[in-house]
Amino acid sequence: MGIEALARPEIVAMKPYSSARKEATTQGVLLNANESPRSLLGGAGLETGLNRYPDPQPADLVSSLAGLYGVAEECILVTRGSDEGIDLLTRVFCRAGLDAILQCPPTFGMYAIAAKTQGAGIVSVPRDRETFALDEPAVLDCVPQNPSVKLLFLTSPNNPTGDVLSDDFLLRLLAATQDRAIVVLDEAYSEFCRQPSAVRLLERFEHLVVLRTLSKAWGAAGLRCGAVLAQPPIISLLGRIIAPYPLPSPVVNLARRMLRREAMEEQRQLLDEVAENKRILVRELESRSFVRRLFPGEANFVLIRVDDADGLIGFCADRGVIIRGFPADPLLQDCVRISVGSHDEISLLAGLLDEWESQT
Ligand SMILES: *Cc1c(COP(=O)(O)O)cnc(C)c1O
Repeated sequence: MGIEALARPEIVAMKPYSSARKEATTQGVLLNANESPRSLLGGAGLETGLNRYPDPQPADLVSSLAGLYGVAEECILVTRGSDEGIDLLTRVFCRAGLDAILQCPPTFGMYAIAAKTQGAGIVSVPRDRETFALDEPAVLDCVPQNPSVKLLFLTSPNNPTGDVLSDDFLLRLLAATQDRAIVVLDEAYSEFCRQPSAVRLLERFEHLVVLRTLSKAWGAAGLRCGAVLAQPPIISLLGRIIAPYPLPSPVVNLARRMLRREAMEEQRQLLDEVAENKRILVRELESRSFVRRLFPGEANFVLIRVDDADGLIGFCADRGVIIRGFPADPLLQDCVRISVGSHDEISLLAGLLDEWESQT
């Protein structure tokens, strides 16, 4: 069975919108796209060519991201962050009122938002209340038991618990979902962990999708640049409904600049810096009387379970340091997530933790 049998029939039947930029070259006298003959920002910098619609999928950016992630160019769709990938997948594979996504809370909130926006159901397989371990048998059973589940959102490392999926589990899940559902592995924090990316499995599994982003390990959340990696049938379906010009030309120019060969070394330095600062942050948290459990995880944040989460968050906020609580999530009532900031930021936080510890 092909992937198209799992997608919404109206999307399979649809012809993608063909923009002027897609149909014609960008050479010569361009009178085909109702653009202005000149831009009001005439500089020679990132804003060059602002009067023209951007290339929907700029070949050189696609090629450097494909090289970075180790996939063929036809296996990648560049998106406005992973958030757009999550949204496109949900719209392509879930029929409103009929189909559902699977998620394993506590996890990233956008899967549920995309599902609700699309009118899709949400099947939740919660993690263990104490350890946040994934309920692997329940996830494996879920698809045979719920034929409405079309998309499984798994996150490795997971946000906010930081744990990674084992290879063995992922392979069993791919076997259990073959011809039934799409497995989406969100690897937003992959660069921070030791586990190799699931990208190497893409060749073998037509129903696997890997999401990557420049937002976290590339220090470019403001860029809004991510990538959906999958075999061509899925990429082609997503390409039918993505906005005609998703990537603004200044963003493309900045991403090009960031991904140039020399930048690889800078990125490695950033990863080393995060790893070192994380060791310091973990050390600062380990010894605290008010920390009941520490989840160091494998990403650029740690999660702690504490005696008085609201109190601690408010205390820090009053002194200018913002850490993350989850008041709306019943599984995370007493938890706080702390991002690995700079050395100075961690020292500042450590001072506040001293104060908080001495007054509680
Ligand atoms: C931060 C985050 C994202 C969002 O990535 P963008 O590329 O910035 O949209 C996706 N997934 C998870 C699990 C995240 O924590």
